[in-house]
Amino acid sequence: MRTPILATVRNLGILAHVDAGKTTVTERILHRTGTTHKTGEVHDGTTVTDFDPQERDRGITIFAAAVSCTWDGHRLTLIDTPGHVDFTAEVERSLRVLDGAVAVFDAVAGVEPQSETVWRQADRYGVPRIAFVNKLDRAGADLDAAVASIRARLHPAPLVVQLPIGREDGFTGVVDLVRPRDVPDDLVAEARRRRRVLEEAVAELHPVALDEFCATGTVSAETLEKALRELTLSGAGLVVLCGAAYRDRGIEPLLDAVVAYLPSPADVPPVRPDRPADPAAPLAALVFKVVSTATGRLTYLRVYSGTLRKGDQVADAGRVERIARVLRVQADRQSEVDSAVAGDIVAVAGPKAARVGATLCAPGAPVLLEPPVTADPVVSVA
Ligand code: GDP
Repeated sequence: MRTPILATVRNLGILAHVDAGKTTVTERILHRTGTTHKTGEVHDGTTVTDFDPQERDRGITIFAAAVSCTWDGHRLTLIDTPGHVDFTAEVERSLRVLDGAVAVFDAVAGVEPQSETVWRQADRYGVPRIAFVNKLDRAGADLDAAVASIRARLHPAPLVVQLPIGREDGFTGVVDLVRPRDVPDDLVAEARRRRRVLEEAVAELHPVALDEFCATGTVSAETLEKALRELTLSGAGLVVLCGAAYRDRGIEPLLDAVVAYLPSPADVPPVRPDRPADPAAPLAALVFKVVSTATGRLTYLRVYSGTLRKGDQVADAGRVERIARVLRVQADRQSEVDSAVAGDIVAVAGPKAARVGATLCAPGAPVLLEPPVTADPVVSVA
């Protein structure tokens, strides 16, 4: 796989209350992007992101895994964040290494207590987010009520960019309000009304959109898109999408929104002023997960600056380690690559002692991205 330029990389997490549908959304994304061709269901234990047998047995996502796929010329790496309330330390560890997130909500339950916990953690790390209201096919699903609970409990400015087609069991898909296409006849008036609501809400938050709104009485799709991206990056507005992951509804628009609105590694501040997201800068990489597999120890890391090559000697708190292999993890396989550059999330084989939270850096340019680590949560995979 060639190294894409930074602007075409999205490192994102899927945040949710347990049961909101995070695993199903992840599965459908991997299926839709063609990384995997069979769709593992949560209930039959074949879910491809959940490598760990204990995790499969319990049916919840305990351990974070990073999985890469491609959409519209962009490389998306999904950092799986656990939703179970007992594992918030694990959530925080993964929040450190991602640039943006999709927050998944249940369209019946709306904002649940754990959604709030994870939301506050993401606030603490300044993670730009979009929202996906899932399970619109369920009896009692109500997008407007879910959005009202988001407004009341999480974010004052939800910006709903889609209109659902059909209700509950009759839910069949979404109309995109930014660039409406194939709008069913009976929804034309409602789509127009909701587009107006969206334009007014965006104009209230974004000066360029406001100028256009005042001058022309409308906001163009181009301006809306640009404004929605800027509002997402600054956190001033929250783009809300909807669908039913289980029925594969709303997944493509969600992928389009990830590309359109969530930040690339180039859009977020550098991890340190002297470690810019530049392949030519000195190496700084943060270990966020260590997995013990049948074939040896795999160290997941995010490269913040510089380039990490197969065969490199790197320093970890004064110890020198050799990078034997650099691997990109996909849903159903790992592919070996020659190097990883700033912005990449990869797994490496070779380091024997690197712990979660450790910094790997160029031996001649030592740096510590996090305070020294004491615990060593190595995960075993059969
Ligand atoms: P997680 O705990 O957030 O990872 O949630 P899961 O993806 O495991 O989903 C929890 C349950 O909700 C499973 O039984 C899924 O099959 C079901 N589910 C997920 N998405 C949808 C959906 O869009 N509609 C309906 N009706 N059920 C869904």
